[in-house]
Amino acid sequence: MMARKLERGAKLVLASHNPGKLREIEALLRPLGVDVVSAGTLGLPEPVEDAPDFAGNARIKALAAATATGLPALSDDSGLCVAALDGAPGVLSARWAGPSKDFARAMALVNERIGANPERRAWFIAALCLAWPDRHTETFVGRIDGQVIWPPQGDMGFGYDPMFVPAGGKQTFGEIDPTEKHAISHRAHAFAQVLAACFG
Ligand code: IMP
Repeated sequence: MMARKLERGAKLVLASHNPGKLREIEALLRPLGVDVVSAGTLGLPEPVEDAPDFAGNARIKALAAATATGLPALSDDSGLCVAALDGAPGVLSARWAGPSKDFARAMALVNERIGANPERRAWFIAALCLAWPDRHTETFVGRIDGQVIWPPQGDMGFGYDPMFVPAGGKQTFGEIDPTEKHAISHRAHAFAQVLAACFG
């Protein structure tokens, strides 16, 4: 079935309160001439994300914003999955940083739980969901594989970026230029699918 298209020049709510994600998604949307407003600017509450997977949580966030505003909304649910931890922190990636959103602590916890295990494979997942006020949704999932390193390196990016080295790379997402990350990231892969399907 054909995906529903977003009209050119449409106003779009970005259903995220995470400044790192907002920065990246705004950069991806900029060339499209979409009129973007964030959930934070509109004072929208953050819904409870209690789905078992990224796509489910992305739907919860996009639907909450679209139905509250009467506008189409785009959400992102994402996280780091670590092979040695059976995919954790996964959908709980934000929660591992605690209420103070301390990602130095979250990264230390990942490293501590891996311990001496030589298995270092990890991947980021991003689910992007476009929702309309009539509750129609389109969801797309992107992934990038790599490994986690210790200690963290670099202070660009956000979240777990300083401990993630993409496959084939030598530097972490915290060290490379954001434009380079935007070209290869899980979010970029999911976004390419949104573009192909929903922007005609
Ligand atoms: P949520 O999707 O709002 O539940 O939070 C996802 C969490 O995963 C973020 O707060 C980040 O810690 C982490 N995360 C998602 N995408 C990235 C990324 O591109 N780099 C680093 N961390 C990320």
